[in-house]
Amino acid sequence: MHPPTPDVLITPLGEHHGVRLLLARDELTHPELPGNKWRKLKHNLQEADRQGLNTLLTFGGAYSNHLAAVAAAGRLTGRRTVGFVRGEELAGRPLNPTLVRARADGMTLHFLDRETYRRKHEPAVLAALLHETGPAYVLPEGGTNSLALPGCAELARELLTRTDFDVLAVACGTGGTLAGLLSGLNGQRQALGVAALKGADFLRADINQLTQQATGRTYTNWELRTDYHGGGYAKLGPELRQFIVDFRQRHGILLDPIYTGKLLRGLFDLAAKGHFRRGSTVLAVHTGGLQAWAGVGGAPG
Ligand SMILES: *Cc1c(COP(=O)(O)O)cnc(C)c1O
Repeated sequence: MHPPTPDVLITPLGEHHGVRLLLARDELTHPELPGNKWRKLKHNLQEADRQGLNTLLTFGGAYSNHLAAVAAAGRLTGRRTVGFVRGEELAGRPLNPTLVRARADGMTLHFLDRETYRRKHEPAVLAALLHETGPAYVLPEGGTNSLALPGCAELARELLTRTDFDVLAVACGTGGTLAGLLSGLNGQRQALGVAALKGADFLRADINQLTQQATGRTYTNWELRTDYHGGGYAKLGPELRQFIVDFRQRHGILLDPIYTGKLLRGLFDLAAKGHFRRGSTVLAVHTGGLQAWAGVGGAPG
């Protein structure tokens, strides 16, 4: 029923300023459901089954990795999917590659005006949407809820058994993935998040709230860097683009433009600044997101 999750490949990226960098290739774990969005969905799908709901309803921007993952999961696991997309004006236009793919995966797309989209999780607004779609299991935008954490915790536990590391590093959007990794680490090692959004200091409280809800505790073995957003959420400036091009040439690995490019760029910079103890090992997670290249004119190099 559920796609298998094979072992995560770990690729050494060499030494940088006395720090060993490794990359956990979770973008390769499933050809069609790469990376953290599948990890976050897994236990939600089990809960949807438990509730007897065969329709998944969710939300996203027009280039959302989460929307793409829900559509693919629906096709692969035989579920109906409904996606509410931000931006009424998109309804009359040709669909972008993310949405073409989502529709081909069987997702029914609805376009919401921005005001309604902002209020989507208000009970009355959500009830009206559910009235339109029929009974459905609702996944929040970005896929982060309490049940998103255990799938990411499994990844952390797998990494602990597979390899030695001192710091586990991941890119953050909502912080759900980092929260899940923290619960899997259960206080062992250090964790480091790099925020993709500008002004993401609020995420620290969100992450604590998520781990509190899911596991009944908060953790102190982590930090969040909010200074590597590169100008904002979906901003791909020339320096970040060049970093991604160089990284691909050097390591043969494509990073995504929104999350993992910023993560690796941040880690190289932190290593150069002596942020990590010499001789320590930093394990970064490649969380996928490569479909987003379609939204910025294709992958470089
Ligand atoms: C969504 C996403 C993230 C961020 O995950 P959160 O759980 O929202 O913090 C990181 N990397 C990629 C590739 C993503 O698609």
